[in-house]
Amino acid sequence: MPQATPKLNAFPVFMRVEGEAVAIVGGGEEALAKARLLAQSSAVLRIVSDAASADLLAFIAETGATYIADAYDAAHLAGAVMVFAASGNEALDRRVAGDARRLGIPVNAVDRPELCDFFTPALVNRAPVAIAIGTEGAGPVLAQMLRSRIDRMLAPSLGPLAALAASFRGAAEKLLPKGNARRRFWSDFFGGAPARAVEAGELSQAHDAAVGLLLSNEPASGHIALVGAGPGAEDLLTLRAHRLLMEADVIVHDALVPEAIVAMGRRDAERLPVGKRKGCHSKSQAEINTLLVELGHAGKRVVRLKSGDPLVFGRAGEEMAALRDAGVAYEVVPGVTAAFAAAADFELPLTLRGVSSSMVFTTGHDLKGNSLPDWAKLAISGATVAVYMGRSVAAEVAGRLIEAGLSPDTAVAVVENASLANRRRFHGTLADLPSLEARADLSGPVMTIIGDAVAGANFERSEPLAAHRQESVARAAAQGVSQ
Ligand code: SAH
Repeated sequence: MPQATPKLNAFPVFMRVEGEAVAIVGGGEEALAKARLLAQSSAVLRIVSDAASADLLAFIAETGATYIADAYDAAHLAGAVMVFAASGNEALDRRVAGDARRLGIPVNAVDRPELCDFFTPALVNRAPVAIAIGTEGAGPVLAQMLRSRIDRMLAPSLGPLAALAASFRGAAEKLLPKGNARRRFWSDFFGGAPARAVEAGELSQAHDAAVGLLLSNEPASGHIALVGAGPGAEDLLTLRAHRLLMEADVIVHDALVPEAIVAMGRRDAERLPVGKRKGCHSKSQAEINTLLVELGHAGKRVVRLKSGDPLVFGRAGEEMAALRDAGVAYEVVPGVTAAFAAAADFELPLTLRGVSSSMVFTTGHDLKGNSLPDWAKLAISGATVAVYMGRSVAAEVAGRLIEAGLSPDTAVAVVENASLANRRRFHGTLADLPSLEARADLSGPVMTIIGDAVAGANFERSEPLAAHRQESVARAAAQGVSQ
């Protein structure tokens, strides 16, 4: 037989307190904590204490709460809809609880569950939306942990969005028949253009979008979010990226984005890998652009997930242009780019006072011609250089920079799989860099950072690049091949 769900001994309700008196008896920390919690509501606080702390007095002055500076008396509870016994003194709290019961007012006594008619929840406040978390005494730490998790999931704009929804309820009920049409309106309202406009702080635009939804019979228009997934570690995803992933109908992702991040989407979301990794079957950029436009026209909410930051070597420029041309709405959500993750893994200051005050993001794939690109000149004048996709051109990069006048002794840091548990770090000089190309043992993505600021990194957990260089030199010598 299936086990019955355990019963709740405290049942959550939302109590009307607008303009009502809530009495808090006590003058110390316990009373202040309850007063702070209740101040998130529009109740009129009545604080009773003949010995209020300085903090509590400041709170009273700040919020305009009613203050009864007297020894407690049952008469102080008259007319209140809730009472908190928060004096920190057991005998007094017991008396307050007894008086409240006699008067028929629900009471909460701080840290004395046996005296409580009700418990106060941990609260996620997006007024008018509230999420109350109760644990029936399993512990405030658990409740706070859940609170912060839920808090992270919900956009700060949820409150204003719910308020806007309330103002549309009458109209929706009048204009749309109950059932599918009305349900679709609300799902487009909370998941589509009105919600996005509120999030962007454009309230009047949100209002117009909601009116548009109400009056048109068209399906909601689609939206593409170009989202940075960060360098690989799941918890380097931004909260916004996480939220959009959970809302997306379709997730279009590159091969470099780990499965664990793609899996954060809804279980019923469609997942479309579009490859883009050497040796993998992958779609061309033009095919990806077309796919995104088609999904947008089909009214889908799409997350286009790219590794790192979408605007750094992510071909986002082409995707945005295609979406703009096709009139499909989109937004960009930044991510932690690989250079930053690699620098963090190496404790490497990308700018270093007196040493380096500028930084270059490059691929090194533009070094083939005769003239040096501008970034090489910047490197020579002291910029820190982050080389993306640089493994296969390591020798070219090192050779051309040395030729152009950068010292062969310039420090170099290399990170494979930055931010991930299987990361590997290497350090050396520009002269050692070419050895990277021959290394078949590096199968993950590799970031190379060049410049004097690299000398400020922590090399405790890195291997010297030179060790490998010597090995390959020795091997070559043994084979009688000149390098
Ligand atoms: N948009 C991405 C870059 C895409 S280009 C970003 O902002 O990070 C792909 C290159 O990024 C790889 O060849 C590699 O040089 C670098 N890269 C991506 N993830 C990496 C990681 N976890 N560790 C090291 N390099 C990484």
